Amino acid sequence: MIPVDHTGGSMKKKIDMVATGEEMYSLIRRLYPICRSITGNGVRDTLQILREKVTLQMHEVPTGTKVFDWSVPKEWNIQDAYVKNSQGEKVINFKESNLHVLNYSIAVSRKVSLEELRGHLFTLPETPDWIPYRTSYYNENWGFCVNYNTYRDLTDDTYEVYIDATLEDGHLTYGEFLVEGREKGHEVLISTHICHPSLCNDNLSGIAVATFLARHLSRISLKYSYRFLFIPGTIGSITWLSLNEKNVDRIWHGLVATCLGDSGSFTYKKTRQGDAEIDDVVAYVLEQSEKDYRIADFAPYGYDERQYCSPGFDLPVGCLMRTTHGEYPQYHTSADDLSFVSPENLAESLSMYLEVIAVLEGNRTYINMNPKCEPQLGMRGLYQKIGGAEQGKKLQLAMLWVLNMSDGNHSLLDIARRSKQQFDILCEAANHLEEAGLLKQSFPQVQP
Ligand code: ZN
Repeated sequence: MIPVDHTGGSMKKKIDMVATGEEMYSLIRRLYPICRSITGNGVRDTLQILREKVTLQMHEVPTGTKVFDWSVPKEWNIQDAYVKNSQGEKVINFKESNLHVLNYSIAVSRKVSLEELRGHLFTLPETPDWIPYRTSYYNENWGFCVNYNTYRDLTDDTYEVYIDATLEDGHLTYGEFLVEGREKGHEVLISTHICHPSLCNDNLSGIAVATFLARHLSRISLKYSYRFLFIPGTIGSITWLSLNEKNVDRIWHGLVATCLGDSGSFTYKKTRQGDAEIDDVVAYVLEQSEKDYRIADFAPYGYDERQYCSPGFDLPVGCLMRTTHGEYPQYHTSADDLSFVSPENLAESLSMYLEVIAVLEGNRTYINMNPKCEPQLGMRGLYQKIGGAEQGKKLQLAMLWVLNMSDGNHSLLDIARRSKQQFDILCEAANHLEEAGLLKQSFPQVQP
């Protein structure tokens, strides 16, 4: 049996976290200017860049494909857009920020009065320097988003509005990457949305952390298989679930990765089940981190966990983020820019995901093969496994705990909580006891 890399420490030793933080940040910087949406070339260009890091597969699903109660929308692409005043000056210019266009706007080219123009402008009076991010996916419309200062200064004039965009039959594009572990058919789903234009925390930070997590996991030995999805929000997860309905029972655990670059503390949103193993593992890792954190119950509002946790699937998928969407003023505005995320925060988020995966990988349940009174450890050479005095005491105590609690009903994580012993030492103790024939792993036959 290949030894399980069960400690967050050893898992991370192989990564230079400072350098990886910088790499994630430069990936974000590269992706930032691309105008993404739920379909179109912005998504394809983004996935092509990610393919330089991980060999993800690109899927194209045709417009009109029925996916449960929805259908894949028409594909949207945009070349240019602006609003010109009568002097020919561009007062709003897509080339300066792709947030200026209402995402999914239909093409328009005509002259309008100030009053008519204002009916198509979106603005944020509370933060007058920021451009809002707005979409109109399922309602054909055109519009521009501007900072309030520009909006206020528009004079009574005739304006030329121009949006060079296409909305026609095409495809919905998403990326998928599978890292195969030893236990085939037991998967951990990591899902991130890829549909936002120039916005960093939501969602380029999730893309960056998921990509580098995928790259790292593809280089190490793993128990579970890890399926990474890079999908447009909502319609992407609905499409994936619809196309993969027969295979979802492979998903044993899952996390939605988003909002991972800001300086706020971690937030974990639990699965709909509320007591899934992933809920326990993330809670434990956050407790051990000695950092501030918050655990929120599941709610049917948020990111793609809404679809994974819909009652017809009820998959054990939670959402591990930093500051929750909507709880930071920069959310869905031009202020969610390159200065709002940092290499250090991204690195800390990646570390947190690695810690979670380390505990998931290491967590297992045993049955004590010698349950009637304590077995003789010395006779089996188990005291020789014990090194220095301090470490020796800890390992001995850990062995006693593992032996006592291993009745097939307590995982190593349950034992760590009850005994207050370190998880990695319990894992080491369990490995020795298993080698000595005192423990046997109890594999659940069905998905927990
Ligand atoms: Zn968003």
